[in-house]
Amino acid sequence: MKIHEYQAKELLAAYGIAVPDGKVARTADEAFEIASAMCPCVIKAQVHSGGRGKAGGVKLANSPEEARDIAQKMLGMTLVTKQTGAEGRPVRSVLVAAAVEVDKEYYLSITTDSQRAGLVIVASAAGGTEIEETAAKNPEAIVQIPISVTEGFKTYEGIRAAQVLGLDDLLQKQLVFMLGAMTRLYLEKDCSLIEINPLVKTRDNRLLCLDAKINFDDNALFRHPDVLDLRDFSQEDAKEYKASCSDLNYVSLEGDIGCLVNGAGLAMATMDIIKNFGGSPANFLDVGGSATTERVKAAFEILLSDKNVRAIFVNIFGGIMKCDIIAEGLVQATREMGVSIPIVVRLEGTNVDAGRKIINDSGLSIISASDMADGARKAIEAAKGGRA
Ligand code: GDP
Ligand code: MN
Repeated sequence: MKIHEYQAKELLAAYGIAVPDGKVARTADEAFEIASAMCPCVIKAQVHSGGRGKAGGVKLANSPEEARDIAQKMLGMTLVTKQTGAEGRPVRSVLVAAAVEVDKEYYLSITTDSQRAGLVIVASAAGGTEIEETAAKNPEAIVQIPISVTEGFKTYEGIRAAQVLGLDDLLQKQLVFMLGAMTRLYLEKDCSLIEINPLVKTRDNRLLCLDAKINFDDNALFRHPDVLDLRDFSQEDAKEYKASCSDLNYVSLEGDIGCLVNGAGLAMATMDIIKNFGGSPANFLDVGGSATTERVKAAFEILLSDKNVRAIFVNIFGGIMKCDIIAEGLVQATREMGVSIPIVVRLEGTNVDAGRKIINDSGLSIISASDMADGARKAIEAAKGGRA
């Protein structure tokens, strides 16, 4: 789960980490009010994405009036950044933050290092909006410092990070404190990423987090109701949100073949085989091992609400899941929703004969496939003639 920059900064501040003064505004007048006590200031679009600076989502205001004008334009717009995809993210709030006189920008983050089964500090003296370019062209400028989760953060790891950034003794102390607090926050709140880009050295020689991104491990959210309260559904893909309410594993993609599959492995294999035959999947969708008729219907609704979907490929291997249950859900959903696009079905496994019978007896024009490859080919063919 992602949160907004202003929320991430509030969390960092609660752990004693230095962030610029700032407050969130949901209207232009609120931005004016806040800016009246904080000028010059920066107005920052609050969306779940980085790359805002380059996309016009970070602007300097020299007066409260200017802050109001900028906020007026930002609020309600859809910000498209390098990270959002073409659909962008709606700007529902802006952060009004005291402008900082920056001497130098650094990159600093903590994330999970699954290979070392621990955490890792990632630090670079080349921070700021060009960090992706640095990673691509000059990766040795980005240094990793592993932290043990059992032993926790050690001062010498912080000193090493300070060396990477080239900090003096005073700032080194600030960085060691900051990394200790970040590690504590990371572990206590089950984060998956805390990223400060840029961390800056101010003209008056202080370390300050100018930007902050915090992501949380979805599987641990059940033990953090305070974190769940920070969720902003307006920033999430509507289909992915609906899927999560029905306990479906769904990831929206760009193609035109909607996939309904049981099991994550089979879902991956289905996407691969569609690609292999020259098609393009519209999504990853795993209805799980214990799907009910209701969940199959919910899955269909999500696939059909995607305007890019021109054909649906149902690929089921009935192990725990029985083919007749899937077939029942499929037939009900198709009837109730008046599906007008082609559906290709490949069923195999437990109760497959009963499942096929339900489909054949339904009178619906469902294209049946003999195996996965056959199904993928038929779905690709059907998508060419499906709705525009
Ligand atoms: P991002 O583009 O979404 O990562 O947004 P950031 O919050 O990182 O802002 C982008 C860039 O704007 C930063 O790298 C800074 O160079 C600049 N910036 C943001 N706030 C300030 C500020 O208060 N003072 C100065 N001088 N620059 C700022
Ligand atoms: Mn940034």
